[in-house]
Amino acid sequence: MQAEIITIGDELLIGQVLDTNSAFIGRELNKIGVSVYQITSIQDDKSHILKAFSEAEKNADVIIITGGLGPTKDDITKKAIAEYFNDTLVRNLAVQENIEALWKLYVRQTLLQVNLDQAYVPSKAKVLMNTLGTAPGMWLEKGDKTFISLPGVPFEMRNLIVKEVVPKLKGKYETPFILHKTLLIYGLGESTLANRIEAWEDQLPSHIKLAYLPGIGKMRLRVSSKGFDEQKVIDDVQRQIDNVMPLIEKEFVGFEDEGQTMEAFIGKKLSGLNLSLAVAESCTGGKLAERFTSNSGASGYFKGCIVSYSTESKINVLGVSKDIIDKYSVVSGQVAEAMAMQTIKKFNSDYAIATTGNAGPTKGEANAEVGTVFIALATKQGVISEEFMFGQPRERVVNKAISKALEMLQKEILKN
Ligand code: ATP
Ligand code: MG
Repeated sequence: MQAEIITIGDELLIGQVLDTNSAFIGRELNKIGVSVYQITSIQDDKSHILKAFSEAEKNADVIIITGGLGPTKDDITKKAIAEYFNDTLVRNLAVQENIEALWKLYVRQTLLQVNLDQAYVPSKAKVLMNTLGTAPGMWLEKGDKTFISLPGVPFEMRNLIVKEVVPKLKGKYETPFILHKTLLIYGLGESTLANRIEAWEDQLPSHIKLAYLPGIGKMRLRVSSKGFDEQKVIDDVQRQIDNVMPLIEKEFVGFEDEGQTMEAFIGKKLSGLNLSLAVAESCTGGKLAERFTSNSGASGYFKGCIVSYSTESKINVLGVSKDIIDKYSVVSGQVAEAMAMQTIKKFNSDYAIATTGNAGPTKGEANAEVGTVFIALATKQGVISEEFMFGQPRERVVNKAISKALEMLQKEILKN
């Protein structure tokens, strides 16, 4: 069973709006065993839409269309559908009532003709009632092919996919069970990981698919399978994961599908051990702290953060000695270590992490090469620091620094 997603809108093609609709639909279809064969984005233009429909019909069983249903541009998608299906637009009373009700509830002004026109739908279409907006969803069948047209507004589209489209597709087509398990791995590059698990990868049966998804400072390894026997799919994937686990034991932090992140993993460990953490940030600007505080329950182990961005604040707020800064420069291992030591003292925490670096693109107060970052980790026993070169651009330097800081902390905590 194959599907194609067609998103309509000039705004998508000029990069003004990111096509998040396709990503959402792709995820939801995948969950019910429907493979997405292609995603296409096209302009608000009837001839392009018609061309996309006939192309899609050649390859896919289900064609899901979003956008072009607003009142302003003449409901271009509806007109294209009517022409494609040799159909005419007729007024649908239920849709009109829905529009009138929504209007009364939220707009409270005279209903405009353009909005009333949204109640016209192709006569062959089954309406998917959009209770959150005025543009109706539509379901049309042509032989064994299904065309589904949905509004472009993301929350309206999502609601229709979940409440109408997915249940109807499940009823109409028999689809296999698809399982993805994504392993989150920190501190290993793609090629090092590939090298380490080569023998395991080579023995994978053909129905188990593997994908490497590298990110900044982390790797995601996706193991997938599909089949009509759900339990067998689950068992097969689990067996392979059990086999690979000993090879990545130290770097594995959890499964992405279960919402696991490195910082959540660290947080759970710290809570369990009844230990606490504080942070001092320069080049990461508070983003490391935010990683922890975005998890509920962080107050149980996260004591706080000082964003000492300027040299002055490193001295006056954090209490790093001016002599150390003058002697070694503000981007140095010595300053990172002093920051961490001051932090662990001030917050009376069990661990403290500090970052200082030059994220670029221009050199700051320090003379350090652009991309240089020092990260220090203080414990009750002492302090260590490491120097990194993360290159450019700025965003990458910051994200890499955060990942490395998390990694250093994880290593230290696992000693307990
Ligand atoms: P028309 O194009 O007929 O004038 P409209 O643009 O008002 O109508 P839609 O095309 O249904 O209505 O889209 C409404 C809004 O939804 C868009 O302005 C856009 O911000 C958002 N949107 C549309 N398509 C997508 C998409 N694929 N991903 C994310 N957002 C989208
Ligand atoms: Mg549009």
